[in-house]
Amino acid sequence: MDANEPEVAAPPHVPGPFRVDILTLFPEMCEGTLGHSILGRAQRAGLVEVGLHNIRAHGIGRHRVVDDTPYGGGSGMVMRVDVVEAAIAAVRRPDSLVLLMAPAGERFSQSIAVRLAAHRHLVLVCGHYEGVDGRVAAHLVDGCMSIGDYVLTGGELAALVITDAVARLVPGVLGNAHSLDEESFTRPRLEAPVYTRPQRWREHEVPEVLRGGNHAQIAKWREQASLELTRALRPDLLDAPPAPPSVDNMRQMP
Ligand code: SAM
Repeated sequence: MDANEPEVAAPPHVPGPFRVDILTLFPEMCEGTLGHSILGRAQRAGLVEVGLHNIRAHGIGRHRVVDDTPYGGGSGMVMRVDVVEAAIAAVRRPDSLVLLMAPAGERFSQSIAVRLAAHRHLVLVCGHYEGVDGRVAAHLVDGCMSIGDYVLTGGELAALVITDAVARLVPGVLGNAHSLDEESFTRPRLEAPVYTRPQRWREHEVPEVLRGGNHAQIAKWREQASLELTRALRPDLLDAPPAPPSVDNMRQMP
């Protein structure tokens, strides 16, 4: 396993669809994204379930308070550990992997997406405001996940990125599972450029080899184009450790 990846325990085999529960103070931020395109279709087909849960339902008292001022001073409000604990407890199953969205977390990547897709149940906890009480990361979740070195206003976009990237790896979600093997980052390479009609746009032609119908030549061209693109734009990928396991094998992954 890549040293930068989070420790992800072996998933117990639980039949049923792949499920993600997103815990957030702003479920409406996620609703639109989840209902459309491949993610929406996967849910309607029963391959993927996504639950949106308002953390405020577990807030304290009549006003459903979810945050408080930081100990030691400083700006902003901090989400309370007891409130987040109750929100997690309401959805946690024996096979859950609970991840806090956090800028300080492990950097999300395609290889982590493959590992997460081997689980049956993800719980993604979204922080907001100044962040989440440090005891959540230390004692309540299985890991923390960042989608990059920048600060978002809340974890919702991070949870959606992870849900989208993982759900499309669930068997059956994409029509052609083999297309996954050629995608950028599945191997430590960028995918070769793809083209469609018109054959000629302004002075730019689609490469002739792609129009010839010779599958061996097309495969060779794509391999070469992928290598050249990677060398030009992301040479760091070519020095990367061995490719992550094939998507076909991910259910057996530890
Ligand atoms: N004060 C925090 C810090 O400097 O690390 C940032 C808090 S941020 C404004 C609020 C929430 O957005 C975080 O608790 C986290 O859930 C989410 N968030 C922000 N940036 C993120 C990132 N790059 N990846 C994942 N989640 C992020």
